[in-house]
Amino acid sequence: MARWGRKMTVYQRQFNCCKAFGCTELGKTSESPEKVHDMGFESTYCPKCSSFPPWVDDETVCSLIDELKDQHFSLKPVGCPQCLPRFFETQPEASRYGKTSAGRQRLKCQRCSKIFTPGSIDPDPRWSQIIQGVLGKRPALSIAYDIDVAPKVYYQLLNRLANGLRIMSRKLESDHGKRPFMAILTESKVLPFKHGHSLWALTSCDANTGYVLLNTTNLSQNPIPLEGQYSAKEFNRSKPYHQLGLYKALVKRYENTMARLNYENLNYGIAKPIARAQLVKPALVAYAHFQLLRNFTQHCEHFHHYLEHESCIRGAGLMGSFDEIKQGNADVFYVFRHHHSGKELSEEGVNIGWWNDRWYPFRAGAWSPITPRKQFRKNFHLELPLAVKNAFKHLLGVLPKEIKSPQPLLAIMEIQRCFYNFCNHDAAGYTPAMRQGFTDLVWNTDMLVNAMVKEVNNFHDLDANL
Ligand SMILES: [Zn+2]
Ligand SMILES: [Zn+2]
Repeated sequence: MARWGRKMTVYQRQFNCCKAFGCTELGKTSESPEKVHDMGFESTYCPKCSSFPPWVDDETVCSLIDELKDQHFSLKPVGCPQCLPRFFETQPEASRYGKTSAGRQRLKCQRCSKIFTPGSIDPDPRWSQIIQGVLGKRPALSIAYDIDVAPKVYYQLLNRLANGLRIMSRKLESDHGKRPFMAILTESKVLPFKHGHSLWALTSCDANTGYVLLNTTNLSQNPIPLEGQYSAKEFNRSKPYHQLGLYKALVKRYENTMARLNYENLNYGIAKPIARAQLVKPALVAYAHFQLLRNFTQHCEHFHHYLEHESCIRGAGLMGSFDEIKQGNADVFYVFRHHHSGKELSEEGVNIGWWNDRWYPFRAGAWSPITPRKQFRKNFHLELPLAVKNAFKHLLGVLPKEIKSPQPLLAIMEIQRCFYNFCNHDAAGYTPAMRQGFTDLVWNTDMLVNAMVKEVNNFHDLDANL
């Protein structure tokens, strides 16, 4: 019997379709969508509602999905190297199959019969030293010197640590099981680095616990078609307009969006090329990001997506859940945080912008349904409006000043995600992992390392096979 009775996560592979809620064509893709230029930019056309959804480069999005699902959810190095299983999917069983000459347990995959030795991780005081060095923003060479290894070995250890922590945390997340409801908050940020390098990052947190579920950036280590590459120089991100009142700030943000020829074409400024990596257009990263979030939402009876008010992620949020939206099992909302705490807007709501989005006040600003209904199965409720803002603040505090190559950066981001979730507590003394129900304690780095070693080395629950 499989270890977890889970269905395979189905990722959408085509994204050119109508994205207007209420239109019968919402989310309906075709094998050969028609590309038109009627609006002065590449789009497709919906004859039912006469909308022109911006063209999406499916090839780039699919390439990103393939890259990111392995980066975030693979069972490497503990899973079968032939089946390449991932978290949130049904796992093949493995049984004991003798030992290696070094005395390590060998396993046989029950699905494909491959004999393999799962990766393990030794308890080692250096793991805590690396975590503390990374969080202290210390240069790689200095951490390597402290733990007395060559820089090359340090980078290998950094990757093993990030992978071990990832396996420990993804195991807890995927065991979390079927839930009646979850809400996910997603916001973007530009990550600045020295020498003119910058990345566009998207982070999603559980909106009720603040647990960081997924961090992605527009950095890809795979070849990206020219159409999907980011190369813009100008800047057209909407500002928060905190000096203005809430209503005026929202009006200005819609004006900013309309000034873009293509409202999904976000330019976050000059971003110089990075060695051994490609930069991808933000909207395409968002399409892949929301497909990966399906791993968390597909086992919920009902879910909400709360999106930063940014039109380059709107279509992606809808495409991450359009089946569930049609069945009434999911809803998508825009959120705009503002220090006026929503008081300026009428409780009945006010229509703003070219699309006539209806905005309502709440304690941290305003919200607008992207999937408006007469009656929501579950009303808008954003428990922790600062969840992503706080996670980004912590991330910016640990990011290295320079990007020399992508892999160490991705490792640091994963180490930070796990530390933030399990060790970083709020004023009330709760970590996101505690709010998530994963533990009753605030962990320190040693506890984080111990949990990682235990989980990786005992990943295959072999006692059950005795
Ligand atoms: Zn339509
Ligand atoms: Zn296998």
